Amino acid sequence: MMSPLKPDLLLVRFGEMMLKGKNRSRFEKKVVSQLRGVLAPFSQVKLVTEYGRVYIRLSDAPAEDVGKAVSKVFGIETYSPVYTAPSDSEAIQAVAVALMKKVVKRPQTFKVEVKRVDKSFPFDTLEMNRIVGGAVLRACPELSVDVRSPETTLRVELREKGALLFVETFEGAGGYPLGTNGKAVLLLSGGIDSPVAGWQAMRRGLELEAVHFHSFPYTSERAKEKVIELARKLSAYSGGSIKLHLVSFTEVQTSIYAAYKDNLLVTILRRAMYRIAETIAEREKALALVTGESLGQVASQTLPSLNAIGRAVSLPVLQPLIATDKKEIIRMAEQIDTYTLSIQPYEDCCTLFLPPSPSTNPNLRVIEAIERGLPQLDEWILRAAQEAETVVVTPEDQAEEDAYF
Ligand code: ATP
Ligand code: MG
Repeated sequence: MMSPLKPDLLLVRFGEMMLKGKNRSRFEKKVVSQLRGVLAPFSQVKLVTEYGRVYIRLSDAPAEDVGKAVSKVFGIETYSPVYTAPSDSEAIQAVAVALMKKVVKRPQTFKVEVKRVDKSFPFDTLEMNRIVGGAVLRACPELSVDVRSPETTLRVELREKGALLFVETFEGAGGYPLGTNGKAVLLLSGGIDSPVAGWQAMRRGLELEAVHFHSFPYTSERAKEKVIELARKLSAYSGGSIKLHLVSFTEVQTSIYAAYKDNLLVTILRRAMYRIAETIAEREKALALVTGESLGQVASQTLPSLNAIGRAVSLPVLQPLIATDKKEIIRMAEQIDTYTLSIQPYEDCCTLFLPPSPSTNPNLRVIEAIERGLPQLDEWILRAAQEAETVVVTPEDQAEEDAYF
C-alpha cells in the first residue's frame, strides 16, 4: 500500500496590513525571527523565502505540530500545507488525486485553479485545469465540479522547479508581529480576563512583561503557581519567554487597611496596584499598562471607578476588553487555552479585607484626602516595586504536555 500523502511544506501568509507601506520589511523580518523561535524544537525543518513568500520545509516533521507552533506567531494571517510534485502532468495528477482523497471526506463540489508561473510548461492554464479536474473526477466519483462557488478549491501552481498543490488554509494568529508596537506591562491576575487582555495586547504588536500581586502568606503558594502557569501560556505567544514580576502586596494592603476600611478601600488598593505597576513599567522602559477590565463588569469597573483608579498613574492604561462581553472573553480564553487554568479556585489578594459594599461611584477628592492621610504610602509603593521577585517564564515542554498516561 502507498504510504499516506504528507505535505512537504507549509506556506505562510502575512496579514494584508503588513504588506503595505514602509514597515513591510521590518515586519517581515520580525515574523521570520519569531518563526525561527517557535520552530526551534523541530530541528529538521527549514525556513525558505522564495518568490517573495515564506515556506517551511517540513522534512518529515509532523505538519500538525508545526502548524500549531506557527499559529502562535502574530502577523501570520493564514497558512497552508503544500504538496509538491515534479513538473510533469502525470505526476501532478497523481498528487492531486491523492491530496483530494486525503482532505475531502464527503461528497461535495470543487474546482481546480491552476497558476502557470513557468511559461515553458507544455500545457496552458485552461488545459491543466481540465486535465487535473478530469483526473480528480475519475478517481473521486462522489465529487462534482462547480467553478462559480465550489466548496473546495484545489490550487496548483506550476513553477520552474516543480508544482505546488494545496487545498486547505488554516487561520493564523493574525495581528501585528510581536514587539513592533513597543512594550507594555500587563497586570496579570489569576482570573479569566487579564490573560485574554494580554494576548490581545500582544496581538497588536506589544511586547509584554507581566506583574502579579500576591498577599503571601494570606494567599497561597498555589495561587502564585497558577499565575506562573498562566504566564507560561502567554509566553508561547511572546517569543518563547515572558518576564513575570511577582509583587508582594501584603504590606501595602495591611497598612492601608489599618488606617482605612470603608467603601473606598477597593479603589484605593487598586490605585496602589496601578502605581506599583507603573513604577515597574518605568524601570523596564514600558510605555503603558494593560489590564483586563471590562466596563460595568463589577463595582470597580464602572466608569467613575475606572476614572478614579486610572488617575493614579500617568502612563496610559490600555484595556483591550473594555467593550467585550464575558461570553466572548471566555471564548477567547478557551482559544488561547487559559480558561481551564483561570477557573481553578484560588485566593485573590483583592478579595481579602473587602468592605461590605465597595463604592461604584468613588469620589476622587475624598480618595486623595484619604491618601494624603497616609504619609508612608509612597514609600510602601516604592518598596513593593523594588522588592518584586522577577521570574522568566517559558512555554512548557511540548513532550511533557503531549505525554500519554
Ligand atoms: P481578571 O479576570 O483579569 O482577574 P476581573 O474581572 O476579576 O479580571 P478585577 O479583579 O476587578 O477584574 O481586576 C481588574 C484588573 O486588574 C484585572 O483584569 C487585572 O488586569 C488587574 N488585577 C486584578 N487583580 C490583580 C492581581 N492580583 N495581580 C495583578 N493584576 C491584577
Ligand atoms: Mg480578578
